[in-house]
Amino acid sequence: MSRSEQLFNEALQVIPGGVNSPVRAFKAVGGTPPFIERAAGAYVYDADGREYIDYVGSWGPMILGHAHPQVLEAVQSAVARGLSYGAPTEIETRMARRICELVPGIEKVRMTNSGTEAGLGAIRLARGYTGRDKVVKFEGCYHGHADSLLVKAGSGALTFGTPSSPGVPADLAQHTLTLTYNDIDEVRRVFAEQGETIAALIVEPVTGNMNCLLPEPGFLEGLRDVCNQYGTLLIFDEVMTGFRVGLGGAQSIYNVTPDLTMLGKVIGGGMPVGAFGGRAEIMDYLSPAGPVYHAGTLSGNPIAMTAGLTTLELIAEPEFFVRLSAMAHRLVFGLTEIAKEAGVPLTANELGGMFGLFFTDVPQVTRYEQVVACDMERFNRFFRGMLDAGVYMAPAAFEAGFVSAAHDEAIIDRTLETARTVMRSL
Ligand code: PMP
Repeated sequence: MSRSEQLFNEALQVIPGGVNSPVRAFKAVGGTPPFIERAAGAYVYDADGREYIDYVGSWGPMILGHAHPQVLEAVQSAVARGLSYGAPTEIETRMARRICELVPGIEKVRMTNSGTEAGLGAIRLARGYTGRDKVVKFEGCYHGHADSLLVKAGSGALTFGTPSSPGVPADLAQHTLTLTYNDIDEVRRVFAEQGETIAALIVEPVTGNMNCLLPEPGFLEGLRDVCNQYGTLLIFDEVMTGFRVGLGGAQSIYNVTPDLTMLGKVIGGGMPVGAFGGRAEIMDYLSPAGPVYHAGTLSGNPIAMTAGLTTLELIAEPEFFVRLSAMAHRLVFGLTEIAKEAGVPLTANELGGMFGLFFTDVPQVTRYEQVVACDMERFNRFFRGMLDAGVYMAPAAFEAGFVSAAHDEAIIDRTLETARTVMRSL
């Protein structure tokens, strides 16, 4: 038995499913997840001493690569001054100012400890500000596990949502409508009937939780128009895309400014951090400035702020995203060429340091239903072949992949060589 298998068995005895977040358990792809002992640059190392080229990057945060020396140094120096004070610190203002400078839609920002908390806060704020209860989301988008957002479509788009997990009250789920990403006509139809009761429309502008889908031309602009027309707040969930697809997030690339933005992952540099921000007039509805309650014992934690702010400083260097995008492109282009040679239908989407692979002959995947129709068995065989050969891709076909600044040409090319062998066996 490998050390990872042994550790997983031990974990199963005291942790539900053996993990603290479900996708880590490898349920979709089967087998035992490697237990990670350490990481450096583009690599993670498991408890059996195996090295993997890592395209998960802790699910997005590790955009500089693992254990970046400047981030570690800054964190170590912050640690020496104490771990948490529960009182204001200067670094919180520096972090807030940097986010406001870089993200077009953010004039004021509140820190949280996770993306989930950012979503929870943004939805409550939108409801409090508009005095409305309803929320619109899109099937396949994930915004964290707050009750109002763990909802799937009911029998039709115009009917009530239903809980996507036991424990979410149907009474609450009925306030959430779930529509089709990239279908602006459906959005217009629903708003024509109920727009005046909808507090917020929340969307991953570029998706990462039904793998990486890009917005069709006009989709995000259409959402902005509809929200303007009905007085609904537009929330971009940029937990994954923020500081990942480009320095100003998807909103700066597509030039559509939301009322509220959720952030996470990269802004914590690997520490537990989230944030939500937006127009000052809306954000000032938050306690203690305004009536909408929001709080957090560890929010704005000095160690987390140090890791995050150091990361933001480093990724703001000129050409950072040019190089990151070039590495993602080298990987994605290489993989699709290799698949073609092997006669395996594969298409890909990519933006900045984020990519999605789809085992399908649909030339461009833009809809949830197309993602679900991909060859999941083939993905699983690809995943397993790559993992066994030392390449760690996201362990589910619905997850986007990430490159970091530590992935260079040589590492990408080594990945492609591995993929050439694996694709032939599919
Ligand atoms: N929104 C998006 C777009 C996400 O990808 C995630 C996490 N994958 C979340 C929200 C929730 O963030 P967290 O896991 O930090 O609660």
